Amino acid sequence: MEIKNIIFDMDGVLHRGKTPIPDAADALGELRKRGFGIFFLTNNGEHPREFFVERLRGFGFEAYVDEMYSSSYGTARYISEKFPGKSAFAFSRGMQEELEKNGIKIDNSNKAEVVVASLDVHLSYDKLVAAFQAIIGGGVFLASNEDASYPVENGVLKPGAGAITAALEKSTGRKPIIIGKPQPYLLDIIVKEHGLEKGKTLMVGDRLETDILMAKQEGLKSCFVLSGVSRKEEVEETGLEPDFVLDSVAGLPGILD
Ligand SMILES: [Mg+2]
Repeated sequence: MEIKNIIFDMDGVLHRGKTPIPDAADALGELRKRGFGIFFLTNNGEHPREFFVERLRGFGFEAYVDEMYSSSYGTARYISEKFPGKSAFAFSRGMQEELEKNGIKIDNSNKAEVVVASLDVHLSYDKLVAAFQAIIGGGVFLASNEDASYPVENGVLKPGAGAITAALEKSTGRKPIIIGKPQPYLLDIIVKEHGLEKGKTLMVGDRLETDILMAKQEGLKSCFVLSGVSRKEEVEETGLEPDFVLDSVAGLPGILD
């Protein structure tokens, strides 16, 4: 199997919460040395993409901003492209920063023209009220992703952006436009900007219904790692059969030539 580029999910693949996956940084270094193109594609929309680069570096990974594609960055690109000039409501401070950096005016009132649902660890009922009212008042409804949960240390899960998106979907009766995986919006940006061939690109992820589903729908090769959210039994339950299954990303250099 010829692979030239590797796209890594991050949460549950390279780290869990504030703890890096053992030997993952060395594995990535080895793959870089062998000449693979390296990219990062995360549904996390809580922070600007520079934050994610710094965090990976803090864990000992080599990482660069032009390799980093987060749903926060994707949301900023999407609004700039499809709704230029419109003001946006964003839940987390990090998402607001990313939008502002890309020239989007933040309006966290119920008059916002675009509402971005994403993970916010400081979620409050008041924020939900403003977002809800902006959507039923005719605002565009975007969501960074619909991940139900995300993995942190010691096998623990926490509710993800999908929980916030679902609250707004239920209350407004509207469906959001999804920026993150399994939608191919960010993947298509990577492919276009860096000239990737999808058939020679490997997606490495811990979540079958986002990482592996996107890979299969878009004609990428896929590697499912068991260090995050999805369990091995779910391969059969979902019918989402990856090309490779590994306990950890640390094993990746051993299966690629
Ligand atoms: Mg993940």
